[in-house]
Amino acid sequence: MILLDLDIKELEELLVGRNCPKYRARQIMRWLLCGCDFSEMSNLPKDLRESLAVEHVACPIEIAEALKSKDGSVKFLYKLFDGNIIEGVYMPHDYGNTLCVSTQVGCRMGCAFCASGIGGLVRNLTPGEILGQFVAVNRYLGGTMTDRKLSNIVLMGSGEPLDNFDNVVKFILLVSDADGLGVGRRSISLSTCGLADNMRRLADLGLGVTLSLSLHATLDEYRRKLMPVANKYSVTETVDAARYYFKKTGRRVVFEYSMVKGVNMSFSDARRLSELTKGMAAHVNLIMLNKVVGKNIEGCTPLEAERFCEKLKSLGVSATIRRSMGADVEGACGQLRRKRLNS
Ligand code: SAH
Repeated sequence: MILLDLDIKELEELLVGRNCPKYRARQIMRWLLCGCDFSEMSNLPKDLRESLAVEHVACPIEIAEALKSKDGSVKFLYKLFDGNIIEGVYMPHDYGNTLCVSTQVGCRMGCAFCASGIGGLVRNLTPGEILGQFVAVNRYLGGTMTDRKLSNIVLMGSGEPLDNFDNVVKFILLVSDADGLGVGRRSISLSTCGLADNMRRLADLGLGVTLSLSLHATLDEYRRKLMPVANKYSVTETVDAARYYFKKTGRRVVFEYSMVKGVNMSFSDARRLSELTKGMAAHVNLIMLNKVVGKNIEGCTPLEAERFCEKLKSLGVSATIRRSMGADVEGACGQLRRKRLNS
């Protein structure tokens, strides 16, 4: 059993089941959320530490590589206990330090520009494996459970969070638990390629996290070329689900839009984007395409990006161009893992 998968009640049950006093659960949880292994849990009897270590895993992931970028971001490659590797990136910002976490090993969404989906989905990550990324990096930065060095989380690493719905929801509950790490739900952003049904389910849960929708195109015909998920959900269905999220939660929805030359940057696209985002608080995050080896898709120049952004603004749309970080350390989704798998 991966102990980081458990909430405090489940940990208590596990301990009581082995005739161990309930109060030990809080002690153990504290250590787990500091990223410690059993051998470091110094306020537990030695035989308890040893017996737990025989049957259970404390933190299921370890940092295998940390690549520091010139811009202060750090790209992490993690090793999972079954030998799989995943990645993530730490980005220091003036509004808080952000960790981008992965939710799956690989991905089955197959977006045309993305490196994460190249080998398909390997498996879902458990809640503790997502939480483990946070805990390991927090420790790497010198943080503890009560003195966190990370304030924001973006679920924008490898994988499609809403394709691993239950585990991702449990992760959000665990990481935001006020008796544990207590990360504010408003400081958590979940990015989806647009699984409309699960966007609605998420809205109904009322967790209060920020929803980002990777829209990338305003017409079904073009969106289908970039994102196979568009064969299942039309642009209208997907955006309606985003509007439902806004109505249900009152939270502004972020639309991610990777600019692809000659495909999604015309004046008509800007106009359609302004129409689509009506009736909700929305922000358009324009993304400069990261070139991925083996993918024949061309991004745009900074000047073209600027022009598209201005067009949107002139139509009353709140829009900014996302500042890219970590380009020198393969910051974009799935790129470092691909490189390591190929070497
Ligand atoms: N599966 C989620 C999270 C993925 S990554 C989703 O689809 O939203 C976060 C964002 O980066 C998404 O908007 C994704 O479409 C985008 N992205 C992936 N690869 C990219 C690339 N090579 N260049 C630019 N944006 C990319």
